[in-house]
Amino acid sequence: MNIQLLTHKIPVGISQCLMGEAVRYNAGHKHSKICTRLLGRCFDYVALCPEVAIGLGVPRDPIRLVKSDSSPGAEVRVIGVVDKTLDVTEPLRDYADSVVPALERVRGYIFMQNSPSCGLKGVRRYLPNGHGIDSSGIGVFAARLRERFPHLPMEEAGRLNNSEIRENFLTRVFAYDAWFRYVEGEEYVEGGEEGERQQHPEDVHAGAPRAARVIEFYTAYKYLLLAHHQGLTRALGQFVADSRALPPREFADGVRGRIMEILAHMASRKDRTNALMHLQGHLKQYLDKGEKAELTRLIEEYRQGLKPVSAVLTLLRHYLPRSPHQFIHNQLLLAAEPAELGLCDFH
Ligand code: SF4
Repeated sequence: MNIQLLTHKIPVGISQCLMGEAVRYNAGHKHSKICTRLLGRCFDYVALCPEVAIGLGVPRDPIRLVKSDSSPGAEVRVIGVVDKTLDVTEPLRDYADSVVPALERVRGYIFMQNSPSCGLKGVRRYLPNGHGIDSSGIGVFAARLRERFPHLPMEEAGRLNNSEIRENFLTRVFAYDAWFRYVEGEEYVEGGEEGERQQHPEDVHAGAPRAARVIEFYTAYKYLLLAHHQGLTRALGQFVADSRALPPREFADGVRGRIMEILAHMASRKDRTNALMHLQGHLKQYLDKGEKAELTRLIEEYRQGLKPVSAVLTLLRHYLPRSPHQFIHNQLLLAAEPAELGLCDFH
């Protein structure tokens, strides 16, 4: 399995105001240049504004999250700030349900932060008397999509200004997209509708991917996963070894869910160093003494924060053709990383 991470622009959902469209309650927008100019180079956006879609209009009176009381399990609803009889909780949930079929094809979602509809975390909540209570809410539309697509990579636009968070989001979107192309057998249709996909019947059987494909995918991601979380990657290896008797769809979804959970952890320098040393171990028999010493020194300089990971990866890729083992050639850890694609900083 030779996985290519960027063969086309990847469909990604986005809050419409981030595209620079004046759909906010005050007839303004929240244009994110990171999203449109930088990530727009590899993402093909599906832009939605749930508040406009349910007919609230532009401009409109603001809405906010209101908790019925301060107890932990109290109900949270989306209520008008001016007209307190306005309750759009159900319309927002129903709208989210209505767009689920259209969003089956997106491979990530970028939300506007602090919105009672789109905020992914930390949204301000109020009591019915108008007093602020905490900042622990999630937008109703975002919450519904998270329920419907638990493995879909999601992030808030404001956080994507941070290069390391952006790199992590890109890694997750690339992996999620690659899963559908290589495991579920979906690919873009040449000359079809924009973003249209078709499924290769030989890659799936009775609606589920073949176990061999799932294992090939996991194997290609193995060292990249190790760089994100060693313990969870070992647990995934055990799950793969123990679960071959599961129904194929359950096995595939179990592996995909675990892969996405592991990638959601930021790759630490310590865990990345460990994964790089595994790669070095596979190549060392093909290196002379001086080459081995140079590679060891470079990995150590990366560990100490003196060199970017791309410096080590470049040298590993240079030695890669010497190994006859497909396992090592297929490792996604050696694929061009988001920084090398110009999408975030080197670190
Ligand atoms: S945050 Fe969401 S609901 Fe609010 S304007 Fe942006 S897209 Fe519309």
